[in-house]
Amino acid sequence: MKAALLEQTGPIESKPLTLREVADPTPSATQIVIKVGACGVCRSNLHMVEGDWLPNTPASFPIIPGHEVVGTVSSVGSAVTHLKVGDRVGVQPIWKTCGVCEYCFSGREQLCRQRQITGETLDGGYAEYMLAESAYAYPLPDNLSFEEAAPLFCPGITAYGSVSKAHLTPGQKVAVLGVGGVGHMVIQMAALTGAGVYAVTRSSVHQGVAEELGAVASYSPKGSGGNNLTDNAMDAAIVFAPSDASVAEAMRVVKPGGRIVLGVAQNVGLLDIGDERTVVGSVLGNRQQMRDVLDLAAAGKLRSVHADYPLAEANEVLAMLKAGQVKARAVLVP
Ligand SMILES: [Zn+2]
Ligand SMILES: [Zn+2]
Repeated sequence: MKAALLEQTGPIESKPLTLREVADPTPSATQIVIKVGACGVCRSNLHMVEGDWLPNTPASFPIIPGHEVVGTVSSVGSAVTHLKVGDRVGVQPIWKTCGVCEYCFSGREQLCRQRQITGETLDGGYAEYMLAESAYAYPLPDNLSFEEAAPLFCPGITAYGSVSKAHLTPGQKVAVLGVGGVGHMVIQMAALTGAGVYAVTRSSVHQGVAEELGAVASYSPKGSGGNNLTDNAMDAAIVFAPSDASVAEAMRVVKPGGRIVLGVAQNVGLLDIGDERTVVGSVLGNRQQMRDVLDLAAAGKLRSVHADYPLAEANEVLAMLKAGQVKARAVLVP
């Protein structure tokens, strides 16, 4: 099969991914092989390819990146009974977990210390075929194309996990800071809780996107046009904008006792305990939450904004992402 292989990290401008012919994967008893229909291009792929996460990620070289993978089952292991050749499935970044630790037993398998990450600890979806653990492959709703479905498997589950941690109830107000690949899904899911969604983004294009997707209103951060949320106005804030200033903005707009959910690693600054705000990190989500995301999309309550490119252009697409030229989610099609 053809795969975009990372043999050595480097700046994306040096085209570190090379399209090579590699051996087709073969499934063990509990595994399946997926003929990849589409694979989303994530900023974390860019970090890994450029070497930002060395020495831990990738776990080994060469590796095939890509962790938002959908396609058709092309072969199944001898012990697989719930999937068959021809089924349409997807795989999220959590490729497999141990299944027996305190996290796996308490619905928080995304925190499993033995977790395998698609395209980071083992080969991912920038390829014609990918191996998957059958218990971690999700049947795709019939009414979703591969290109529409792929972004549900990282931005979708990431957004869902973060909204669930905001504990929103109908009538509350939530600020969503950052309207990119994840943020545009956070807005839709937060609106489904019945909360009023207020989007904060520096981009005037994204301001329009936010309101189109159900935000009550959208704002630029304080200082850029004078268009901003008032202090202590929100019950919660969800931050996917990659800047410490965004966290400071979230702290300012959330009322005492409110919740701030961080989907990106940031400096929180001094936390005023007298205001009893809760700051919580969020990463991905468990398998049931992934199924919930697919149900929402199947019911037309969640849509992904995507642009499609051939697999051979993986380097170029990652370069566009680095340059901020991708509007929502880029998807590679083998
Ligand atoms: Zn991702
Ligand atoms: Zn575990």
